[in-house]
Amino acid sequence: MKKLIKSSCSVDKAVVAKSCKSVPGAISRRTFLRNSSLMAGGAALATTVSPVMMKKADAAVAAGGKAEQVKTICTHCSVGCGIIAEVQNGVWTGQEPAFDHPFNKGAHCAKGASIREHGHGERRLKYPTKLVDGKWKKISWDQAINEIGDKLLDIRKTSGPDSVFWLGSAKHSNEQAYLFRKFAAMWGTNNVDHQARICHSTTVAGVANTWGYGAMTNSYNDIHFSKSILLIGSNPTEAHPVALQHIFKAKEENNAPVIVIDPRFTRTAAHANHFLKIRPGTDVAIIWGMMWHIFENGWEDKEFIRQRVYGMNDVMKEVKKWNPAEVERVSGVPEDQVYAAAKAMADNRPGTFIWCMGGTQHTIGNNNTRAYCAFQLALGNMGVSGGGANIFRGHDNVQGATDLGTVQHPARLLWSFSGFVETLVACLGPRLRMGQGSVRRRQL
Ligand code: SF4
Repeated sequence: MKKLIKSSCSVDKAVVAKSCKSVPGAISRRTFLRNSSLMAGGAALATTVSPVMMKKADAAVAAGGKAEQVKTICTHCSVGCGIIAEVQNGVWTGQEPAFDHPFNKGAHCAKGASIREHGHGERRLKYPTKLVDGKWKKISWDQAINEIGDKLLDIRKTSGPDSVFWLGSAKHSNEQAYLFRKFAAMWGTNNVDHQARICHSTTVAGVANTWGYGAMTNSYNDIHFSKSILLIGSNPTEAHPVALQHIFKAKEENNAPVIVIDPRFTRTAAHANHFLKIRPGTDVAIIWGMMWHIFENGWEDKEFIRQRVYGMNDVMKEVKKWNPAEVERVSGVPEDQVYAAAKAMADNRPGTFIWCMGGTQHTIGNNNTRAYCAFQLALGNMGVSGGGANIFRGHDNVQGATDLGTVQHPARLLWSFSGFVETLVACLGPRLRMGQGSVRRRQL
């Protein structure tokens, strides 16, 4: 215990010494808030630029000096393009796209080309400000931390820890997300979340409930192996521009048909072989409609389903109700288009299934994502290179921040536990296999 106390005192002697003296091993509430606020503030600032660069940026007036090249990553979208930053006297002076990066290979989109603005844009908040008599006044970090800390402690005292909501970010690194989540826990609440609540949480629920883990199953450059590409609620031409080069590579080199399902004729739809213009929110109807043709024509992967899938019979019963007339009535898409899209996917396997916010940001987002998963299972497109559920995220670390617990979901613990049990059983071998087949099977 003594050792522990000693080590906690040695973490930051100047800050902790006072509290360590009075109560061995304890940190005062003020010190806790001060350190935590520094951590949270620092985490936000460090999201785009490394601490070293942030510190040196104060020397912006000192022009000249040797330029060094620093490898970094674009933080705008989930493609994660590599960037070579040119840094001079600690100031980010120029940039080039990384030619040796496996995702962008020397390409950049307009958003990535403006990434330096994160570091020194004119409108960037660079120091704490306080609204005094209607005007924003610059204040010191000490004043800001003390005033905010005191205010927060007052709120917690009068209204309890659950009265404060802690909003993290999909732009935080894994480490920052972990610390942010811990901060909320130490504050005493589970009221912590980040933007994946509206974009990614429906995917997590739909995908994890289907095959156990709520994440993109393949990768951008694995799309090179796809023989067909289906995009629903996804417009990478604008949202993930550099991702399109991977889609086009498969389209050109594998002659892969591109199927776009969207209520709008997007810039991505302009490149499609098949465009299905659905009524907004009718994703399940169109997917069941395509599966109707797949089952009617016996195009499903029977052996894959036999070996790897539970519950497809129930899905088939449901799909049976979605005949072409009903699908057209609900989604607005005529039978010939639905048939052609289903056939293109069936004839060209493995095919990738890409979705984005257009599929998830619905009150029925979970239903949509589960239907997408069922479609891929029916065609046997899972567990193969070139197939899978390629779920393009909006930010650079939606998955990491979510996995580190910044998104709260009561079922997460359950999934983690079931994942642990599966791993354990898989490691222990066939003796522990359960039911009619392997534990890798999932109930649809
Ligand atoms: S595609 Fe995404 S990661 Fe790449 S440069 Fe554009 S915004 Fe940045």
